[in-house]
Amino acid sequence: MRRTAIALPRVVDAVETMAAAEAIGWAVERFHPRMVFASSFGAEDVVVTDLLLRERRDARIFTLDTGRLHEETHEVAQRIRERYEVEIETFVPETDAVEGLLRAKGAFSFRESVANRKECCAIRKVAPLTRALAGLDVWITGLRREQGQTRASVRRLEWDQAFGLLKLNPLVDWSEERVWDYIRANDLPYNALHDRGFPSVGCAPCTRAVQPGEDIRSGRWWWESPEQKECGLHGPRREGGRT
Ligand code: SF4
Repeated sequence: MRRTAIALPRVVDAVETMAAAEAIGWAVERFHPRMVFASSFGAEDVVVTDLLLRERRDARIFTLDTGRLHEETHEVAQRIRERYEVEIETFVPETDAVEGLLRAKGAFSFRESVANRKECCAIRKVAPLTRALAGLDVWITGLRREQGQTRASVRRLEWDQAFGLLKLNPLVDWSEERVWDYIRANDLPYNALHDRGFPSVGCAPCTRAVQPGEDIRSGRWWWESPEQKECGLHGPRREGGRT
């Protein structure tokens, strides 16, 4: 695996002070094409898509098709393809693993326990993500600190210990209002579910609408406690080392 040697703590501090577009430009200049943006086509993701493709038209974007997504998510993906004329690399779960899970536990095992939910996420999300990130230096996400207690300490650039590469979170300090101001100002395509009370969109059976004023991610795995609400793609913040 190719790596670019940088003194991570110093760079993390420098990138933290950058604006979102500047941080993306910084990363593109150093890491493209060993860098991908992981999009689930949420509001933040369409903003990052726009910022990234303004910087570099052939920037790499991928998505995880878990097999349980809403139609509306596929629709916005298609609109992004057409608007920007970009390819979106799509990673799907291993057939054997999904067939084994369905045979042993049925189609709704994730509601029975946190362990079962994490098992499903591991098969449908984490394993494909691991394949998607193999051999790369940086992945970009749409994480924001406001998105809940599991994300409150995320930095704009961090070392992702779990996957062994840098993670760039350009919108880390953006408010939800700022995200929507950008979407409207630039007439970006967005997931129609956002207009129906879904501030955060994941798999269809694990996402529901929330009431005004409720936590942004309260509609995700609503039967679990807040500290459990990650699927293994984004762990707690880890302090960096070197790449
Ligand atoms: Fe499975 Fe739900 Fe996780 Fe999607 S969000 S991978 S359906 S447990």
